Amino acid sequence: MANEKTPEELRLKGIGVSPGIAIAPLQLTGSRFEEPETRVLPADSGPSEKTRLQAALTATREQIRALQSEIDGTVGSDHAGIFDAHLLVLDDATVIDEVMRRIETRQINAESAYYGVINRYLESLRKIADPYLRERAIDIEDVARRVLKNLRWPSGTGGEGIRGLDFEVPSIIAAHDLTPSDTVALDRKRVLAFATEAGSATSHTAIMARSLNIPAVVAVRDLMDSIHPGVTALIDGYHGLLILNPTEETLADYEALKKREGQLLKKLNKLRDAETATADGRRITLSANIEFIEELPQVKKQGAEGVGLYRTEFFYLNETDLRTEERQAEIYTKAASELTPHGVIIRTLDVGGDKLWPEHFEEPEPNPFLGWRGIRVSLARPEIFKTQLRAVLRASAHGKVGLMYPFLSCVEEVRGANQLLEEAKLELDRVGQPFDPDIEVGAMIEIPSAALMADAFAAEVDFFSIGTNDLIQYTTAVDRINERVADLYQPTHPAVVKLIHEIIAAAHRNNIWAGVCGEIAGDVLMTPLLIGAKVDELSVGAAQILRVRRAVSQLDSDYCANFLQEAMQQREGSEITAMCRELAAEKYPELID
Ligand code: PEP
Ligand code: MG
Repeated sequence: MANEKTPEELRLKGIGVSPGIAIAPLQLTGSRFEEPETRVLPADSGPSEKTRLQAALTATREQIRALQSEIDGTVGSDHAGIFDAHLLVLDDATVIDEVMRRIETRQINAESAYYGVINRYLESLRKIADPYLRERAIDIEDVARRVLKNLRWPSGTGGEGIRGLDFEVPSIIAAHDLTPSDTVALDRKRVLAFATEAGSATSHTAIMARSLNIPAVVAVRDLMDSIHPGVTALIDGYHGLLILNPTEETLADYEALKKREGQLLKKLNKLRDAETATADGRRITLSANIEFIEELPQVKKQGAEGVGLYRTEFFYLNETDLRTEERQAEIYTKAASELTPHGVIIRTLDVGGDKLWPEHFEEPEPNPFLGWRGIRVSLARPEIFKTQLRAVLRASAHGKVGLMYPFLSCVEEVRGANQLLEEAKLELDRVGQPFDPDIEVGAMIEIPSAALMADAFAAEVDFFSIGTNDLIQYTTAVDRINERVADLYQPTHPAVVKLIHEIIAAAHRNNIWAGVCGEIAGDVLMTPLLIGAKVDELSVGAAQILRVRRAVSQLDSDYCANFLQEAMQQREGSEITAMCRELAAEKYPELID
């Protein structure tokens, strides 16, 4: 009888990294990186094992190149770039030498020697609590899985793998993890959405999913222990939910939501080429936040007016060759030219806090968010900083490029940074490299001390960009990544609202413009407050562009100015949230559904 019972609905929470809803049978995939059997071989087997390894490396190289050109022709060259990193991992001479030595000295099979060496690297990378470095581990694992597969099935035909997924019906896939190359190679007709146990919002895989428009939820705890192939699954990429065995009621709710969403997107798409302006005609620049160059097509597709925040930590935390002036200049130039006639604002390095780089591991800090972060690192390592500044300047010869400094706490820092910028300009002049001598320079205002000294900062720069993610954290003393105190992280805390108002007013008193690039810029509940504060630019995730454009178009600037004044009279964040909710429900209910 137990078998005949309707299976119970189970809701698993993760992080929604790519919006959308999909309902389909669930398939399991994505093998883990498993230890192969170790075989001790006869003494004279070394040469043949080494030949086998070489053959597997060659086959892997060919497969990666084939995949690269296939992706290049279908999804686009930006995504195909991932495979350059894979080829570097594959051909790493230190790894290959060590594997060859193991085969020789331990007299073991190539699979076991290769696994042993790679796994040692992976284990040390996995110990590091940094999402970027963990991402490197995924790339290495991806390549190693291919090599092991080619050792096991030299013809390249057998074995598991995402491309060999054995189902015909369009499905949702669940995996411990998907590598970026798995994701980019997904067959859109058969894979409607995916959920993974591992992953983070900043992972390449998440970005791929967004670019490919595949709804996705990552970081679903205990996912692999909770599922069975074939059950009906529902992915809600908006709210980061995987629902197994959804009830009739849930299905009906989601069908209705899907329908509303489809209608809304159709309506919003009409705003793609529209100006961003309030109902009474006040223009606002609506730009996008990016972290990877691969996001540009999506940014353009959503009708963003350029990029208002290009986070560049990726250069320093990933491939070492990306740190060179040449490579950075190439990527920044690509962004600048592709975004023309709009511009790109490149934020200089903001490592520290939760984005640690090697020097942070040498001397761990008790309070990383109050430590060696952002501009402090750049000023302490002027050569690295100037390399980045020269690269940004070089890109400014090819399009509209702005530059901004993160994590400023005192005016001396912005002056120090500007002095190094002048040196970088002289260095480029000396070698005849063209650049825009009047490149716009901005200060990120994200620390209360900078907010309170905004007039002094304004004298040093051309614009402000308010980093509310940090401004909230530092104003309220609430660690932005600590779940325990998450309920105290209040974007509508009256102190935060007052600071935002003050920062923008100071910018305008000093005839410079001010934007907001923290997450609240993309939250349509907050839009009336920001319009009321007379913000000039909003920089948001690409997926939020059209929603924010619509919200802005429904609001009147004078009304919002009064609304903000009233909000600042409140004593509690919850009161301001309630006011925002009420106004949004009146002006654009479809956006807050
Ligand atoms: C911010 O703090 O709001 C911001 C945009 O910077 P990040 O999130 O990268 O710290
Ligand atoms: Mg910040």
